[in-house]
Amino acid sequence: MPETIRVSYGTAIAMGLIRAKLLARPTTAYLMTYWPGRCSNDCAFCAQARSSRADLEKLSRVVWPAFRLEEVLEGLKEGNFARICLQTIDYPGMVEDVFDLLEAFSDLKLPASVSITPVDSETLERFKELGVDYIGVGLDVASERLFKEIKPDLSWEEVWDFAERVVDVFGHGKALIHVIVGLGETDRELVDTVIRARELGADLSLFAFTPIKGTRLENMEPPSLERYRRIQLAEYLVSTGKEDAIVFDGDSIKGFRLLEDEVAKIPPTVFMTHGCPGCNRPYYNERPGKEPYNYPFPPRREDFEKALKFIL
Ligand code: SF4
Repeated sequence: MPETIRVSYGTAIAMGLIRAKLLARPTTAYLMTYWPGRCSNDCAFCAQARSSRADLEKLSRVVWPAFRLEEVLEGLKEGNFARICLQTIDYPGMVEDVFDLLEAFSDLKLPASVSITPVDSETLERFKELGVDYIGVGLDVASERLFKEIKPDLSWEEVWDFAERVVDVFGHGKALIHVIVGLGETDRELVDTVIRARELGADLSLFAFTPIKGTRLENMEPPSLERYRRIQLAEYLVSTGKEDAIVFDGDSIKGFRLLEDEVAKIPPTVFMTHGCPGCNRPYYNERPGKEPYNYPFPPRREDFEKALKFIL
């Protein structure tokens, strides 16, 4: 049984393990497997990657301090969480650690999600028996063209095949394909990725690229908020069968062909974090005080309308 586990900073505050002020309460407990070294893969954007020189406590812009598992099991009872989200990095024995951790969580009777690189279907079945109901699939790169360069240890088709097997084992909508906007992909590639995910019965979780010092992509810029809003709206349109309303100019989204009553029906949730039920992932990609890429709670009416006007 692992003795140590990483906990996202906000989750650790909500659990009472760190005394600090919470800007937005995480509704899910975000945890990560502990390993004293780096991940065995070398994803170019990732602080945990093999060749990264970034702080080992980081994933995206979030700090994940390590705690004793015992303390965390106690803390999980305090935080009023709707779900546990277990993030993994690759290292020898990781899958065994995940089995052990899921067993340790089982008394809490909370649904659990696991984000993991491709594993076989038997492992997925075992996760399901241990209370997992959603699987995060790290496609990350919405472009076959760029995939190998950014994620050299995995293959594009292997990840799609994994998403398909997750849907076979867990059911429709239970594979959450993670996609990072701003890794050099075109809008068209992003929309095609959303369509492919929907066609195989998976759901999609959008992230904004966040440059982390010490990673291969430390000097790349994050996407503009305007582009990110366009992609969020495009994702909504694909998921509601209205992808014909997306207007392209070459490979870029130029606008949207929507009637007034269709615009009135767009829900404010379009600009919120999209993940498993009970997930709000506050400040994962954004700095507090700035307009967030993904709102952790429904945006205020005026903020929502401003964001829509920005892109329509
Ligand atoms: S597999 Fe995950 S944790 Fe490992 S380098 Fe890639 S993104 Fe980071």
